Amino acid sequence: MTFNPQIIQNNLDKTLQRIKNACEKTGRDPAEVNLMAVTKTHPAEAVEGIRRLGVDLLGENRVQEAAEKRVQLAEDPGWELIGHLQRNKARQAIELFRRIQSVDRLSLLNRLNNLAEELQRSPYPILLQVNAGADPNKFGAELDEAEALLEAALASSHLQVDGFMTIAPLSDDPDVARRCFANLREFRDRVADRYQRDFTVLSMGMSGDLEAAIAEGSTLVRIGSALFGDR
Ligand SMILES: *Cc1c(COP(=O)(O)O)cnc(C)c1O
Repeated sequence: MTFNPQIIQNNLDKTLQRIKNACEKTGRDPAEVNLMAVTKTHPAEAVEGIRRLGVDLLGENRVQEAAEKRVQLAEDPGWELIGHLQRNKARQAIELFRRIQSVDRLSLLNRLNNLAEELQRSPYPILLQVNAGADPNKFGAELDEAEALLEAALASSHLQVDGFMTIAPLSDDPDVARRCFANLREFRDRVADRYQRDFTVLSMGMSGDLEAAIAEGSTLVRIGSALFGDR
């Protein structure tokens, strides 16, 4: 697929307008909601193009795909990893990504903590991925396990927990996504109080459900198809 700047600019304008409208509806400041462009399945050209349009927060969901694109780019786009990470790719992931949003289990957490020290990337920023919609098809720590994972993360001296990420279950009922996002926000509010930390980043919302996510407090929406078209 070739990158058409006119179409993408138009899609970007529409997406920013959706964010603005969603913020207005719920009394939020649009400056609190960051737009991440998800470039998975789209070529290096799309990465350069969207950056030229002023979007500097970028996401990829696979280590291998990002590595292949990276060699075609003059500059490091500063991607964040938003997809499932295997432990044997953790080293490459820390080298390639500015932040990892998909930390969902203790074994991966421990590996990343060791690597952050070894690669002199300490403190390395992460989000904990929580399966806040209890979707059997999704990765992420279950809600009732997330606090134990958080405690381990807070004790990992080479990692920095910026906040939490979730992916809503696919559903025709918009309330399903909204409930998922509300669950994550409530979890965040509770642990922020208990551990006296801000955990400012709530990464929730994609092309189909960004309004529900913003209504529930999202600070980072991850947008692929609404910007680049269907995959
Ligand atoms: C692909 C992907 C997105 C973007 O999804 P769209 O529906 O295309 O906006 C967001 N988050 C994750 C984790 C993804 O894998």
